[in-house]
Amino acid sequence: MTRITEPADGPAVVTAATAGVPIEIDGLGRSFGPVHALRDVTLTVAPGEIVALLGPSGSGKSTLLRICAGLEEPTSGDLRFGAVSQLGVAPHRRDVSMVFQHFALYPHLTALENLTLALRHGRGLPKAAAVARARETLDMLGIGELAARRPAKMSGGQRQRVAIGRALATRARVILLDEPMSGLDAQLRVDLRVEIVGLLRRLGTTALFVTHDQAEAMAVGDRVAVLSGGRLQQIGTPDEIYDRPATRFVAAFIGSPP
Ligand code: ADP
Ligand code: MG
Repeated sequence: MTRITEPADGPAVVTAATAGVPIEIDGLGRSFGPVHALRDVTLTVAPGEIVALLGPSGSGKSTLLRICAGLEEPTSGDLRFGAVSQLGVAPHRRDVSMVFQHFALYPHLTALENLTLALRHGRGLPKAAAVARARETLDMLGIGELAARRPAKMSGGQRQRVAIGRALATRARVILLDEPMSGLDAQLRVDLRVEIVGLLRRLGTTALFVTHDQAEAMAVGDRVAVLSGGRLQQIGTPDEIYDRPATRFVAAFIGSPP
């Protein structure tokens, strides 16, 4: 099992303005009619920590992320960033940024424009500052040369890099990634996840990284939270989860030795 512990090249750029805040998920539940998408989920993510949310399709991963982003309200429980409850706080007023599974780039805008739009409208940066931040972030991701290109003229990997750049450029203190690399080929996934983890570490951002891929969760997460049927089965370091699975489900899903 490979664990990523080394930051990507480059100095840490953690500042008081970017350092992550803790996420406190406290007894969260969410029902859609008769469907319990989440049931009494409690977990805390430390500042700067990366927690991988792992579970099969339908286990509630996206619902949990969407609640953190403010795109969905819970039916019970609380969500706090730092000590501050986020319930009822509009998405654009939360210090979060989300990377979606399917890029969600604006097709009529270039890479640079996709980033600057998010910075100007999402974060209220003046134009010159937004452009400077956008260029710096594209360079950090090694895609400075894509600045003037539109998504249709990019590969899938390039598009996803731009989408990740757009989230990181905001310097939000909480980054939510929902299966950010599904649809990319295996080698690209490995390369990109090493870079994402390196950048999150440099920025000191608190992150929830959703995946249904066990190996990816183990490689990316400081800790891994395993969901099944909307319930948190276990949260622990990759070694703890692998060596001491708390439930049969976890053992079977992770493929731990019996
Ligand atoms: P995952 O991301 O792990 O695949 P989801 O959070 O998308 O899981 O979904 C969890 C459960 O909640 C599933 O049964 C799904 O069908 C249901 N669900 C999610 N969003 C909605 C919605 N807007 N309306 C109805 N059911 C939903
Ligand atoms: Mg999902």
